Amino acid sequence: MTRRNKVAIGIDLGGTTFAVGVVTPDGEIIARESYDTPRSEDEPLALAAVASAVGGIMEQETLKPPDIFGVGIGIPGPVDPETGIIKRAPNLPELDGVNAVEILSGGMDFAEEGTKPILIGNDAFCATLAELRWGAGRDVENLVMFTLGTGVGGGIALDNEVRRGPRQIMGEVGHIIVDPDGRRCGCGNHGCLEAMVGRDGMVHRAVRLLEKGLPSILRERAGRKHEKLSPRVIAEAAQEGDELALEVMNASGHYLGIALCSCIVLADPDLILLGGGIAAAGDVLFDPIRRTVHHRSMISGFDVEKIVPAELGNEAGTYGAAALIIDELTGDEP
Ligand SMILES: [Zn+2]
Repeated sequence: MTRRNKVAIGIDLGGTTFAVGVVTPDGEIIARESYDTPRSEDEPLALAAVASAVGGIMEQETLKPPDIFGVGIGIPGPVDPETGIIKRAPNLPELDGVNAVEILSGGMDFAEEGTKPILIGNDAFCATLAELRWGAGRDVENLVMFTLGTGVGGGIALDNEVRRGPRQIMGEVGHIIVDPDGRRCGCGNHGCLEAMVGRDGMVHRAVRLLEKGLPSILRERAGRKHEKLSPRVIAEAAQEGDELALEVMNASGHYLGIALCSCIVLADPDLILLGGGIAAAGDVLFDPIRRTVHHRSMISGFDVEKIVPAELGNEAGTYGAAALIIDELTGDEP
């Protein structure tokens, strides 16, 4: 392979599965494999598995060390990209405080003695970078991304770079306070966006409305103890016109809209992207968000059509981890 054809390897590490992908500088995934994440209470087994999966995919694609730029890895939690240390991984606590770069270098022959860069990033940072380079944000330089799932993550890109700030918290949009008297958040605060529209927040709202006795198809779909309720089940019922489910989606859209208004005046984005499972719900989510922004973002005149779904879906993490490497080597432009 010539240098022009070199590739980066991107890893998206999650608490239950991880994916390894081979990505070209143009943003094409030429191979991607998923594995279960091995767990241990006190050993960083997941990182050993990642290192061996990198070796596996290189062998499968007949890639030699000179063919790759380096290895990027997205971590589900806050990291220090300078030192390679994982600060905290709520779903993989055995990795708390572990130096991921050191362990990965030790597990990959070709990466010994710093001959190939190994970089780590927070997963929401990686997803934002991926959308900025190769996804819905590829034609703009300034964007805010929200990733909606069990929690709410995000990222802010300014002047074509995803920013994190000196304490690595810029873009933690899940902890924007949208209701000072609202539910308690995992961070200890009350009324963070994540507490209001994360998985638990949405399910809690639906359960409260069901317990009021309002009619809803969710009553038969929720299970006896509401154990089958999830944002996806609620969104599907809303798409079918269920009033109670629509009320939950409207409330979620309202709180998201409030958070978006804050982001608009802080970051002046060209585009706002919504990613994560529930972002696929379409109008039942986007309509109330756009309504709220339209009514409450008077000063900005922000065009609500610029609030759009992210494009890379489940692969955003793999793309973004590879983009850490490609950005490092090529500057701002992919
Ligand atoms: Zn919080």
